[in-house]
Amino acid sequence: MPFHHFEGRKCEQIHEVFFTADGFKTPTKCPCKQKGCKADWVVLPRHMRSINQQLSAVVYFKNIKGEIQMAGSSSDPTPEGYERCEANTLGDLRKLEARLNQEQRDIRAKFVEREQAQSEAMIAQNRRELRTAMESFSEKGRTFAREMMRRNDTRRNIYDKKVDPGVHFRILHNDEGKGGE
Ligand SMILES: [Zn+2]
Repeated sequence: MPFHHFEGRKCEQIHEVFFTADGFKTPTKCPCKQKGCKADWVVLPRHMRSINQQLSAVVYFKNIKGEIQMAGSSSDPTPEGYERCEANTLGDLRKLEARLNQEQRDIRAKFVEREQAQSEAMIAQNRRELRTAMESFSEKGRTFAREMMRRNDTRRNIYDKKVDPGVHFRILHNDEGKGGE
């Protein structure tokens, strides 16, 4: 494939570049020539031959806080307090996808935080009771109880921030689907 595509980190544009030789390194200098803009190599979806190919617009609504609602169809009326937006290019879609995933991560993080605060409080209460009970334990029993508490401490915080919330626009992911649509 003689054409390669690069996405600028600063300009956030996808550029089409003709290469005669393989073996380029990324990030590379962005074709936009903006100072300090570096570009990553991106793979276009299999059934898209060019970035200039027209995409059918994805309609969504955005409020002042940046919260997003996807439109069911392009003729949906704009909800109160929202503005109508369209993603027309691959760059737009990538940004929209990232934004939706971030929203999901934020929601999950808040939920996990609350859960953790609750379980911390419960653990603290159990510990107080256990420590009181431990006063009547044998030395061996006390050592065992301390070891169990230590193990529990290392087992907490299992929340993985890198979890993928799973918002994917199919067109952006080359490896999904069988031979495109
Ligand atoms: Zn650039």
